[in-house]
Amino acid sequence: MLKIRGLQAWYGQSHVLQEVDIDVERGELVCLIGRNGAGKTTTLKSVMGLVEKVRGSVMFNGEEMLDLPAHARFHRGLAYVPEERRIVPGLDVRDNLRLGLIASKLKRREAELIAEVTKIFPRLAERINQNAITLSGGEQQMLAIARALIARPKLIMLDEPSEGIMPALVDEMFDLFRQLRAQGVTILLVEQNVERALSVADRAYVIDHGVIVHHASAEVLLADSEIQEKYCAV
Ligand code: ATP
Repeated sequence: MLKIRGLQAWYGQSHVLQEVDIDVERGELVCLIGRNGAGKTTTLKSVMGLVEKVRGSVMFNGEEMLDLPAHARFHRGLAYVPEERRIVPGLDVRDNLRLGLIASKLKRREAELIAEVTKIFPRLAERINQNAITLSGGEQQMLAIARALIARPKLIMLDEPSEGIMPALVDEMFDLFRQLRAQGVTILLVEQNVERALSVADRAYVIDHGVIVHHASAEVLLADSEIQEKYCAV
């Protein structure tokens, strides 16, 4: 479904991604791990069209994405949930969810899609009329994920969703990933919480200094403490 080849990216003169090759098959949960500053966020942003200077190839369902602006990639079925949750304070949970459909062809089916997504997130269903700013950090993260899912993306990219969230909600979050995967949602996940991430993933890629240095099944990487220590310590 997603085939990244020789992806490079720059911020000004800084050559941040040097050689990124990643494949994600339909229905897979693939994890991208690596130290702080290794280039994980830049990889997701480059796939979504949010980094100005990129080279290489990002094929999504057989179509080159690097020639397209971010909104066109969204319409092809790519979604990205950034690390900093962008919920809109002042709007309630329902209106935040509706924002996820604003540019979508599915807008006419809003009520049905809100019902569908809140079934996956019972916490949001209970708080549907509550101002989003009153949600806990973890609930706001779930809202950000739900808002991306509501437009039924073909592939969702999640950037450090468990960052700064209380442990009980982290458990819920990883259960959610398992559930989404079981429902056939394709996920590319960036996580610092390496063991937890590998325990839900099918496969994983390790990035270091902007280069993919290793890839394996999640099971194999989970057992490889040497690689984890070398490349994944914060
Ligand atoms: P973290 O786990 O800390 O989020 P990461 O693996 O996601 O790290 P990136 O955020 O992709 O890493 O950053 C890769 C490199 O690019 C880092 O050296 C970072 O300082 C740099 N960088 C990131 N964003 C910018 C920017 N907007 N302008 C300049 N340099 C940037």
